[in-house]
Amino acid sequence: MIILSGVAGSGKSLQGRLLADEQGFAWISTGELLRVLVTGKQRHLMLQGELLSDAAMIEILDKVFDLIDLSNEFVLDGFPRTVGQAKWLIGQVKKDRLSVDAIFDLTAPQAIVRERLQGRGRLDDTDIAIDNRLEEYDTVTRKIMDLFKQEKMPVYEVDASQAPQLVHDSILRHVEALNITDDDQN
Ligand code: AMP
Repeated sequence: MIILSGVAGSGKSLQGRLLADEQGFAWISTGELLRVLVTGKQRHLMLQGELLSDAAMIEILDKVFDLIDLSNEFVLDGFPRTVGQAKWLIGQVKKDRLSVDAIFDLTAPQAIVRERLQGRGRLDDTDIAIDNRLEEYDTVTRKIMDLFKQEKMPVYEVDASQAPQLVHDSILRHVEALNITDDDQN
């Protein structure tokens, strides 16, 4: 499993999709999953840029992990976003259900990501929702990288303020060094 993490507007989903398409990996984006699946109150929360509860998120992802062949490489994009989610994921690794090959932390200055989000026009790209998502990243999501490093997981920081192709190239350099040899993927 390759984890893509980064603030909203860092280009995480574009990079996830590019990597998955190029390498023939599955691409599991929790944002995309939720936009398809959630209704009612949870859908409103999303549109305000608020996180869904860990319990709701883990319940969905647990089902998705049951659906796919976890022995094949795949890209996980947008999860974990809280320390609770990260602890659950680390628990799954320790139980040998999942393995982590690389964690990419896409970083970019706030001014750059804000400008990208304002130009994107998704329904949750209002000023208030953007503030919420940038704040959520600073206060909650960043701590996850500390936890991954403590657990000696392979975290790579990528400068996501660069042009998308350059970001992709630097991700790819690390992925190619992993020498993934699943039968299905060669
Ligand atoms: P994204 O497409 O990654 O920007 O996600 C869009 C929205 O989906 C977020 O602003 C959250 O409301 C929700 N979401 C996505 N992933 C998670 C997660 N791991 N935990 C909680 N909420 C999430």
